[in-house]
Amino acid sequence: MPKIDLHPRADATDVLTIGIPRGLLYYRYHVLWRTFFERLGKTVVVDAPSTRATFTAGDAASVDECCLASKLYMGHVLALIDGQGLDATGAPTPIDALFIPSVGNLGTLKHFCTKFQALPDLVANSLVERRPRILSCLADSLDAGVSMRDGFIALGCRLGARPKEAKAAFRAAEREQARAEEALAHAQQELLASIERLPAAERPLTILIAAHPYVAHDPFVGGAVEDALRAAGAEVIFADEFDHERAYKKSFEFSATLPWIVNREIVGAILALHDHVDGIVIMSAFPCGPDSMTDDAIQRCIHGKPILALTVDAQSGTAGVETRIESFVDILRYQHKGGYLHA
Ligand code: SF4
Repeated sequence: MPKIDLHPRADATDVLTIGIPRGLLYYRYHVLWRTFFERLGKTVVVDAPSTRATFTAGDAASVDECCLASKLYMGHVLALIDGQGLDATGAPTPIDALFIPSVGNLGTLKHFCTKFQALPDLVANSLVERRPRILSCLADSLDAGVSMRDGFIALGCRLGARPKEAKAAFRAAEREQARAEEALAHAQQELLASIERLPAAERPLTILIAAHPYVAHDPFVGGAVEDALRAAGAEVIFADEFDHERAYKKSFEFSATLPWIVNREIVGAILALHDHVDGIVIMSAFPCGPDSMTDDAIQRCIHGKPILALTVDAQSGTAGVETRIESFVDILRYQHKGGYLHA
């Protein structure tokens, strides 16, 4: 039995404009979230991509123990509260409420980092003086018996939709999310196929970036890494753009017990793409519990490809990344020419 009322009272009908902070699970679910709210007639507002200023603001509002990614998230929350959000046309738009879901798990061995479950409380308590209005929804199949679908339908009812309308909105949102993921996976597959069709001497180095999407694709965190790889003439592909379901299944060849779904997808994508890339960059935001365990295991257990492990922290940011990437690419080029022997 779900531990929440799946058809709650419509207590948030006055919320017309919903702010979504551009951080953490936004990078995984933004299509689903936007589609759901827009289907219910709401205006979705997102703030601009991360900069040093986003981090500085988020850092000042966060407790020291928080990881770089969640401090950045706090900076995005503040930007929305301060009226810096943009609607779909790019117009600055004030918000009525923030959307901050509590995402615990999608089932057995499909856990998210505990930060995602605690996020609405973390924001409310860190910004208690700003009194942000937070709209949340729960996804916790294991302990609360509430699937992500249940959580969104309950949220839709709070926003004034009938259960039937909320269900239809969620169906449409899931469809759009699946389409967007398929398009990314397909484009990446095509890119790899086109590289592999080239004569060996003409193939660019192909590097896999393996990281949480809000690390890999956030300009303040992973942006410098992708830029440095491209500047060094490499082609870049991403673990999080590989087919999620295939990656998840593949991850069981690596571990039967790894609890976190995103780390499973990253590991599975590394295994699936291993023979199609020249090197792997694993990237993490300091201090990350799930990554510290998984990345260490990846480096110990996945052989036959050079791996560069980068941890981005609040103090040094991506300083020095260019030099490390240049050396890594030089080593890969040398290896291409038969310079090193490896197992
Ligand atoms: S998985 Fe790591 S980087 Fe992501 S929110 Fe959790 S601690 Fe932070």
